[in-house]
Amino acid sequence: MTALSPHVPSAAALDPEAVLAQIGKIAATDLSAWARAIDEGTYPATLMHRFADAGAFGLHLGEGNRLGAAIEGMSRISEVCTSTGFMAWCQNTLVWYLINSENAAARAKYLAAAAGGHVLGGTALSNPMKSFFGIETLKLKGTRVEGGYKVKGILPWVSNLGPDHFFGAIFAVDGAEPVMALIDCADPAVTLKPCEPFLAMDGTGTYAVQVRDLFVPDEMVLAHEAMGFVKKMRAGFILLQAGMAVGLMRDCIAMMREVEGPLGHVNRYLEVQPDQMAETLADMEAEVAALCETPFDPSPDYWRRVVGARLLAGEKSVEAAHNAMLHCGARGYVRAHRCQRRLREAYFVAIVTPATKQLRLMLDQMPA
Ligand SMILES: Cc1cc2nc3c(=O)[nH]c(=O)nc-3n(C[C@H](O)[C@H](O)[C@H](O)COP(=O)(O)OP(=O)(O)OC[C@H]3O[C@@H](n4cnc5c(N)ncnc54)[C@H](O)[C@@H]3O)c2cc1C
Repeated sequence: MTALSPHVPSAAALDPEAVLAQIGKIAATDLSAWARAIDEGTYPATLMHRFADAGAFGLHLGEGNRLGAAIEGMSRISEVCTSTGFMAWCQNTLVWYLINSENAAARAKYLAAAAGGHVLGGTALSNPMKSFFGIETLKLKGTRVEGGYKVKGILPWVSNLGPDHFFGAIFAVDGAEPVMALIDCADPAVTLKPCEPFLAMDGTGTYAVQVRDLFVPDEMVLAHEAMGFVKKMRAGFILLQAGMAVGLMRDCIAMMREVEGPLGHVNRYLEVQPDQMAETLADMEAEVAALCETPFDPSPDYWRRVVGARLLAGEKSVEAAHNAMLHCGARGYVRAHRCQRRLREAYFVAIVTPATKQLRLMLDQMPA
């Protein structure tokens, strides 16, 4: 692992097109060479810093709609490796929390550092996102103490973590609203426990996190009233996940096309053809781009469209990877071929929070 880069790009210094070109270059070279090792469990810290230095985690800083550029950056990463695309989402989401926090002290200390990759980390919002929809209760509990909160509890999975990383989390507080804050993995009160091997995503730095009477100072609080904060930034949180789906689907379409020469004469009998999948993807990208124009739209109609787009992203990722397998046949079934990896990664897009079943529950609970 290289030393942390002191380079922190400012919003003004970032030219999105140049950043995207640089992300694509790193993805096509170094990430491509490392994708299999990452799939097999290597956490790519050096690559995360290279993407950070390129400006990949600062694309959504600044005025106006910058979510679209951040999504395109993650799409270019996920086109090669969805594990790394997911870690980029973890990092970008950590930055998104800081962009939207009203705590000037937290922003001053952590925003540029996270956007520049000087601080790496992620988000532990699966449990709160489920708790807000009555699926489970909050796993972290906090007590107000002088200058901050004392927090304890266990989270089963948090990704893009390491001994010096940070993540955003929400804890319940007796007699008050849940609070959202940053947690520092380097604090002795925080223990990272390795998870059992997964179907994919083993290189994503995913740990169970045990928090034992951790003192969280006020300067690390992102929002003293987490519910309102989550409502404000939830569309961005969900839309940013589109990068994983878009990149993965692009590669699935590419794989279908790669075998058109040798297998097209028989593959044309398959139900889903690459042109058709490319049309689905283009429609999906257009809808996400439109939604990215107004990430703070509070209307129920807007929220329904965001949830619908997220549902489609999971479903179409699985469909694209399934059909890429059918097109590639035996050559896609060998361990060294990326096709079977894409299939395993696609299921993650459909089960990471908000998972397909939660999205369906949310749509069911919305007014018609
Ligand atoms: C590789 C990986 C990375 C993840 N990274 C993050 C992250 O960075 N941040 C984050 O907030 N969430 C993370 N998650 C969690 C993820 O977002 C989903 O919450 C999870 O996949 C389950 O969602 P679900 O809605 O299908 O719930 P379900 O699977 O239906 O139910 C989940 C609940 O079941 C229990 N449970 C089921 N299996 C286990 C198990 N093996 N160990 C412990 N408890 C279990 C837990 O109470 C859990 O809350 C990660 C999950 C995976 C597999």
